[in-house]
Amino acid sequence: GAAGPMDAALRARARQVIPGGLWGHLNAAKLPDGYPQFFSRAEGCHLWDADGREFIDLMCSWGPIVLGHRHPAVEAAASAQAAQGDCLNGPAPVLVELAELLVEMIPHADWCLLAKNGTDATTACVTIARAETGRRKLLVARGAYHGAVPWCSPSVAGVTEEDRAHLIPFEYNDAASLEAAADRAGADLAGIIVSAFRHDMGVALELADPAFGRQARSICDATGAALILDDVRAGFRLDLGGSWETIGVRPDLAAYSKAIANGHALAAVTGGERFREATTRVYTTGSFWCTAVPMAAALATLTELRRIDGPARMRAMGERLRAGLDRLAARHGLTIRNSGPPAMPLMQFEQDPGVRLGEAFCAAALRHGAYFHPRHNMFLSCAHGEAEIDTALEAADAGFAAVAAIA
Ligand code: PMP
Repeated sequence: GAAGPMDAALRARARQVIPGGLWGHLNAAKLPDGYPQFFSRAEGCHLWDADGREFIDLMCSWGPIVLGHRHPAVEAAASAQAAQGDCLNGPAPVLVELAELLVEMIPHADWCLLAKNGTDATTACVTIARAETGRRKLLVARGAYHGAVPWCSPSVAGVTEEDRAHLIPFEYNDAASLEAAADRAGADLAGIIVSAFRHDMGVALELADPAFGRQARSICDATGAALILDDVRAGFRLDLGGSWETIGVRPDLAAYSKAIANGHALAAVTGGERFREATTRVYTTGSFWCTAVPMAAALATLTELRRIDGPARMRAMGERLRAGLDRLAARHGLTIRNSGPPAMPLMQFEQDPGVRLGEAFCAAALRHGAYFHPRHNMFLSCAHGEAEIDTALEAADAGFAAVAAIA
């Protein structure tokens, strides 16, 4: 149900003119009762819905907000660029500066190209891998999310078998299944695409096993296939050099979006020297792919993340949140399971089929001013300090009380 009278009125109007009320992952229909669909503003890690209720934001727009909403340095850079122009006959000079920074920050990167969405970037990686190798097969982990076009969409509505003809599934973190999938592909193996960690919806998150990462690397080295890291969700939150720096494995190609420009629309592909020439042959473009404002925002975002060591800060605050949740759950006699990197956490209750307890927790925490998610990994930002984490934990305390009453 809706959050308040304004939210209810907007949802009713939206249902008339927008199929299902809203497309995609931001549709609030699957969230617990009382979650708003519409928001009016945000600042730092505070979020206000259309009815004016305020929350500590633990979703950060599902990833893009990494420094905090309306970060002053990012917005100043974006405004300064906007005053000069945004959508021109070609990119602004800031493109070169940003590309140089990405290539400097990301160890495997010798070049980059920019786009708008994560799906643009993952799809470009796959196309580049096929163009360079002249092969077709792509190994994809079962249950992984790589975007919203036919080759990778989680829904098969409107998708043909042919769209997925050359995909071979494997189990993430499972050496035997990766080996078997590579054998099936044989001499036609173009690439292996992996996410930074296992973040399938509704199940516990699983960090990448370094041995699994090394195995994927060595299969690609032995066969000439491309190791593609889909870092769209985790990129620039865990490690500024790319998320698999944390396990010491470097991809050939990587896809980024979400956090790259602190909420401005941008995506990036980075790659090694071997894939440079093929990338010039692949046709990648879009009407808005060279707009300057998001590039200026990205330059400011990455510069600030590096200056303050954003990943370390988000990790520390994520650990504080996790420790607090453990402590509170125990006090209420409840068993929870925290999973994922601290900066991108998921909390689940033991014995909770249907996520009834998780939803009760979230609904009550929301009423007490914190926006948690029951099924999807959450996202911290650099605007979450100790005080804000503690405020979220007070709301969580109310959430646990609600669960204890029905468990
Ligand atoms: N890959 C991963 C791992 C993602 O999490 C997402 C977005 N949730 C995508 C790709 C697709 O990105 P976008 O929605 O920007 O196209």
